[in-house]
Amino acid sequence: MSHRIELEGGGVFDVSADEDTLLRGALRAGIGFPHDCSVGGCGNCRFDLVSGEMETLWTAAPGLSERDRRRGKRLACQSRPLGDCVIRVRPAEENRPVVAPLRRAARLVARTAITSEMSEFVFAAEGPAAFVAGQYGLLRVPGAEGVRAYSMSNLPNEAGEWRFVVRRVPGGRGSTALFDTVAVGDVLPLDAPYGHGHFREAVERDVVLIAGGSGIGPIVSIARAALRARPERRVLVFEGARTRADLGFATLMGADLAGVADYVPVLSAEPEGSDWAGARGFVHAAVEARLVDRREACEFYFAGPPPMIEALQDLLILRWTVPVERIHYDRFF
Ligand SMILES: Cc1cc2nc3c(=O)[nH]c(=O)nc-3n(C[C@H](O)[C@H](O)[C@H](O)COP(=O)(O)OP(=O)(O)OC[C@H]3O[C@@H](n4cnc5c(N)ncnc54)[C@H](O)[C@@H]3O)c2cc1C
Repeated sequence: MSHRIELEGGGVFDVSADEDTLLRGALRAGIGFPHDCSVGGCGNCRFDLVSGEMETLWTAAPGLSERDRRRGKRLACQSRPLGDCVIRVRPAEENRPVVAPLRRAARLVARTAITSEMSEFVFAAEGPAAFVAGQYGLLRVPGAEGVRAYSMSNLPNEAGEWRFVVRRVPGGRGSTALFDTVAVGDVLPLDAPYGHGHFREAVERDVVLIAGGSGIGPIVSIARAALRARPERRVLVFEGARTRADLGFATLMGADLAGVADYVPVLSAEPEGSDWAGARGFVHAAVEARLVDRREACEFYFAGPPPMIEALQDLLILRWTVPVERIHYDRFF
């Protein structure tokens, strides 16, 4: 059974009655529904319900402001249609999925520690792992409400292997469960792929990759994709971490690190007395110092915590006026 969703102003699509959310149903139907994080944080999938009934899954989702709530706004990533509905939203071509997302059962087959707080989780699922480097999947983790977004750290593959670099968040329900409760052999629902911050293979410019914390997952994936497509391409990587022990990019890249033209680790909390001779401070400041004269030649990709994303948006968009089409990112809410 499915529910018919009509877009005020034209357009209609069907959402299966067992679909998790309106957003995912719309994207699965090929609709360019505005969205970004898919987990209630960014607010980009706001819409108006004109008629019909929808259930709100997470009423306190931070993606809606108090003003939004007063005006009756809803988040498509937290809404489930209960029957046929009419909604108001403006779909756009750039929001259409590059690969149609699919729900699958993913079995945890291995887990490797990258640092004391980050591990790479390897899942196996039926069918090819179809995605573009830099995209993310939505995992339903036992004991945590809703879903958690994790970016793929490997390349798309026919074998159905999905890798995610996950950081243990103190007090976080999903990440803690992944580390402490989920065991090799367990099967979790995975819905993937999602996200716009993916690699643009056809672009000829140098590839600048900037990661904060567990943002190294998608950055490793894009670095590999960029080098595989054209080994002579210039790939520059900036990795922001607190201390030397928190760096993970080189470990994940292994021998492939040799293909990276420049790798700049930047530490924000390395003890003063240590023998660290590399860059210190915040990663966006290192990007500014190193690329100020080369910015025209670069395509920028970044992933990590919201304060890092905001600092990079400020640098690249407001101060350097890099065209937004050359900037691709995911905020890790
Ligand atoms: C696009 C994207 C990509 C990401 N990629 C990675 C990655 O590769 N590696 C990584 O370590 N982290 C990544 N994250 C962050 C990750 O999704 C989690 O936010 C993080 O692991 C903390 O989750 P937690 O359950 O431990 O913490 P919690 O504080 O328990 O949960 C925080 C997350 O759960 C959601 N949430 C909280 N309560 C509810 C509820 N009641 N109903 C529904 N949802 C709820 C929030 O929106 C938030 O996403 C990504 C986030 C986004 C948005």
